[in-house]
Amino acid sequence: MEIFERIGEVASQTYKYTTEKADKIARETKLKMKMNENKSKIEDLYNEIGEAVYRRHLATTKENFDEEIQNACEEIDKISKEIEQQNNELLSLKDRKQCPNCHEKIEKEAKYCSNCGMEQAQESKEAEKEVNNENKEEIKNENKSETNNAIATNATEEEKASNDSNEA
Ligand SMILES: [Zn+2]
Repeated sequence: MEIFERIGEVASQTYKYTTEKADKIARETKLKMKMNENKSKIEDLYNEIGEAVYRRHLATTKENFDEEIQNACEEIDKISKEIEQQNNELLSLKDRKQCPNCHEKIEKEAKYCSNCGMEQAQESKEAEKEVNNENKEEIKNENKSETNNAIATNATEEEKASNDSNEA
């Protein structure tokens, strides 16, 4: 009798395993789709930026074009973060994660990167900090003047005074 009970047990475990696997595959497919949607959104924004830059070349008044480019860049920042999170989720479904140092895909539970040897933070939240988008640097550079303005606004009174004297 016991043997039949065992068979039933194994069968239900196998069933559980295959439904879990199917669920994972469905989630993977969905994530990949969302990531591709986001990537094409970024492509569209690149186009917008390109057009804005060209219109700026043609235009005599230029103020609102800067704003247009800035907005598109910020939108790209936002979508890039989304893609990054989706990528982390995708890796996590495969029990993998990305090394924040070398970007190699490694075991989720790994304490050290198998590629570069960097010690891994045990909280998976840490991985979200890492930005796996080579466009990020370009965007940062484009935003640099804005950032500098922000820094100037937040400068201490002393620094402000020295800035004022520089301008004078
Ligand atoms: Zn590494």
